[in-house]
Parts: sequence; structure tokens; C-alpha cells
Amino acid sequence: MRYPWRMKIVDPSTGVAYDEVAEDSLADITRKAAAARATQPDWAGRSAGARIDVIRRFRQLVIERKEALARVLSREVGKPIAQARNELGAVPARIEFFLDNVQRACSDETVLREETLEERIGWEPLGVVANISAWNYPWFVGSNVFVPALLTGNTVLYKPSEFATLTGVSIANLLHEAGVPKDVFIPVLGGGDAGAALIEAGIHAVCFTGSYATGRKIAEAASKHLLKVQLELGGKDPTYVTDDVVVDTTVASLADGAFYNSGQSCCSVERIYVHERVYDAFVERFVKEVAGFKVGDPSDEGTYIGPLTRPAQLDVLERQVADAKAKGARVLLGGKRMARPGNYFEPTVVADASNAMELMRDESFGPVIGIARVKDDAEALRLMNDTAYGLTAGVYCREQDRAATVLSQVHAGSAYWNCCDRVSPRLPWSGRGHSGLGTTLSILGIRAFVQPKAWHLRKA
Ligand code: NAD
Repeated sequence: MRYPWRMKIVDPSTGVAYDEVAEDSLADITRKAAAARATQPDWAGRSAGARIDVIRRFRQLVIERKEALARVLSREVGKPIAQARNELGAVPARIEFFLDNVQRACSDETVLREETLEERIGWEPLGVVANISAWNYPWFVGSNVFVPALLTGNTVLYKPSEFATLTGVSIANLLHEAGVPKDVFIPVLGGGDAGAALIEAGIHAVCFTGSYATGRKIAEAASKHLLKVQLELGGKDPTYVTDDVVVDTTVASLADGAFYNSGQSCCSVERIYVHERVYDAFVERFVKEVAGFKVGDPSDEGTYIGPLTRPAQLDVLERQVADAKAKGARVLLGGKRMARPGNYFEPTVVADASNAMELMRDESFGPVIGIARVKDDAEALRLMNDTAYGLTAGVYCREQDRAATVLSQVHAGSAYWNCCDRVSPRLPWSGRGHSGLGTTLSILGIRAFVQPKAWHLRKA
């Protein structure tokens, strides 16, 4: 590890560094993990109400500081400012769900009561949770983990992505200001090396959001210590458009689902299969819709598509487009990086795509979509399932039964009928196959941070 080191914070819309922060050294990480272990029993020993109070104050601070926090986020990851505000604006409702439900999710349950014998299920925190996070929705994916983890009595070592470090620091400052002790929520700053060091530092669980490739490495490293592992990974999320849709509204919904956040969402629409009866009309209308998206500086109010956060992804997208062209697809819009500073890629629509193409197999994570023609529901289902991923899948059609028939057979953790790119705090968020292990959000996403204790109680 090349410590000590100062990480540069680079504006993805210009490629120019505008700040820097000190990366944690191995010694720092070891010391932080020891502090998290030492304070955990005290934190767990506080009443649930006391923990709820500080997280409620944190929620209030997020509301009050929304504009400043959105600007930090927008500049650092290149997220259009309106979309950065949307992310911050939705965080309080997620926190509220956890505040309202944590006691219900973790209350003791007596499962047998006889004259002299009681059997009871209780819940205890996991201990020290490492939260290794992604940059694309740093507030969402971070708070899905650290809020329930803290509420249930765990201490948290939080490593933001190296592409969202300033947002990570803002989160830590706000939690501390709200009253979470500094040794209960501890930011760890750095890149992949820092994340890898965390897993060796004496923790009890690792909750990771990021790519399949990194998730596998984490699972392997964690297995040596038998850590509890939760992985929220990528997707190649398919949608099927049937022959009975209203084309205009379907296009508007799916174009937004594919291009919002410049296509950098784990649940972005990544593949569209369209019934042959509406295919031509759909494709024509889709190209018009995407051509109308405003690409620009993330700080401009009207910008809908900003730069990619990571420059390396430009090469991935160019490779996918070239492979698709070579295999017979038609690039109807865009197709290359833009001739301007920063990590900009043209909004790109590729028609006549097939599952033989990288574009339809590997996560694009950018403003690029592949559209393929199918002849019926059975073919659509087969192609949707032709992937190692399984995060979300959708069907657009009039009849709920028709959608349910397809969606009940799709390997995905979330199923969408006439909607897409949607997450709810009330519903479990989970992936199948290469999309991950474990669950966040919902009651199950609270239970993810506690472990059961079986009480066998016999009166003497
Ligand atoms: P990434 O895998 O490159 O990095 C994620 C985190 O892992 C970062 O904090 C990074 O520093 C750290 N890391 C890298 N190597 C490590 C190692 N060897 N050990 C420990 N930590 C290490 O992913 P990313 O680019 O930040 O995020 C994009 C990916 O995340 C996409 O695939 C996206 O689909 C996925 N994602 C999934 C969800 C979900 O809910 N399923 C949500 C958001 C993003």
C-alpha cells in the first residue's frame, strides 16, 4: 500500500482536480477498527429510543442542508444538479422508514409459553459493520446500510467510493453533528486498498455496494474470517415491451429509466426487448426522445445528461458500441465520446441488438441502450433470463396477468410492471446471481444488521 497519500478530487465535467484529501494509512485503518470494536458495546447498550433520536436529528440536518449537499455531490460525481437534489430529497423518506420500523423489526418474539418453559427469539447487533460504498448514488446506497446498522446498535466503518469522498465526509460530519459519537460512525478514506484493508481489520460484517468483480474479491477475502457478507452488485436489467402498449408513454418512461443519472444506476434499464408488431414505431419514437435530452454541465439547471463519473468507462462504452456494430446492430444516435473536456459520451441508441453482443451482456453503466426485436412473450422471457445478473426486470403491457406470467419466471430481485428504475424503502432490495447476496431496505433490510439469539427459559 502506498501510504501516506493524498487523493485528488477531480471534476468529471472538466477533468481538473479541485480538492484533495488525506487517504487513511494501514495504521489509521487498524486504529479506527479498534476504536469501532471498543465503543460498540456502549452504543448497543443505549436505548433504541436514544439511537432513534440522533438519527432523527441527522434526518433533519439532511433536510436543512439539502442544497449545499446536492452541490457537493453534483460537482464530485458529475450528477446533474436537479438529479442530485432529487437524491437528497428522497433520503429523508428512507430514513423515516427505518425510524418507524426498527423497533418492530427487532422486538423479541415469544414463540412458546408453557407453565415452566418459554422460548423466545431475540435480536442482537452484528458488531462492527464495514460499509464499502459506491459513487453513483452515494447517499442512497450508503444510508441503506449505515442508518439501519447504527439504529440496531452496530458501529460502522464507512468507506465511501474514492469517486464520492467529499460526499462521504459530508455524511460523517452530519452524523457527528447529529450526535452519533465519532467512534461509532467512522469514515475510512481511500480506494480499493483501503477497502481491502478494512476486511482484514477485525470487523464482523461487510456490506458492499459496487461491481460484481469487486464483490467477488470481497466475498473471497471475507470468507477467510467467516464474516457476514452482503453484496449489492451490478445488473443488466431487461425490459420487455409487448405489442399492446401506448408507444409514446412507454418510450418516455423507458428512455428516462435508461438515461437518468446518465445511465449510471444499478437498476437503469440496460436492455430493451420490443415485440415485432410495435418495434419500428417504438425505435423511431425512442430515438426522438433521447435526441431531446440536454447534455451539459452538471451545474446547469436544465442538464439531463452529465459526464460519466469514471473516465475509464468511456473505453467500455466505445468497445460495446464497436462490438455491436461489428455484429450487425444499427447505431441510430450517438455512439462515441464527445469532443469536449470531461468524461462525456453521446447519448446512444443501438437498434437490432442481440444477446451475442457485449452491449446486451455486460453492464454498460452509461448513456447507451441496446434495443432488440422479439416475436413473442416466450422469446422475450428467454432473452431476459439469458444473463448472469438478476437485479431488476420489467414488462410494459396492458394486462397485469400477462406481465405477471413473464415476471414470475424472470430471475431478478425486483419486478416492474409499467415502471422501471424504481426503489422503495418498503420493499426488499436484492439481487440474484451476479447481482448480489443479501437484502437492504424493507423490514428484511433492518434484520440484515442483527443476528438472532434463541432463548430457552425454564423456571426452576
Ligand atoms: P467498484 O466495485 O469499482 O467499487 C466499489 C467500492 O469498492 C469502492 O468504494 C472501492 O474503493 C471499493 N473497492 C475496490 N476494490 C476493493 C477491494 N479489493 N476490496 C475492498 N474494497 C474495494 O464499483 P463502483 O464503480 O463504485 O460502483 C459501480 C457498480 O456498483 C456498478 O456495477 C453498479 O451496478 C453497482 N451498484 C449496485 C447497486 C445495488 O444496489 N445493487 C447500487 C449502486 C451501484
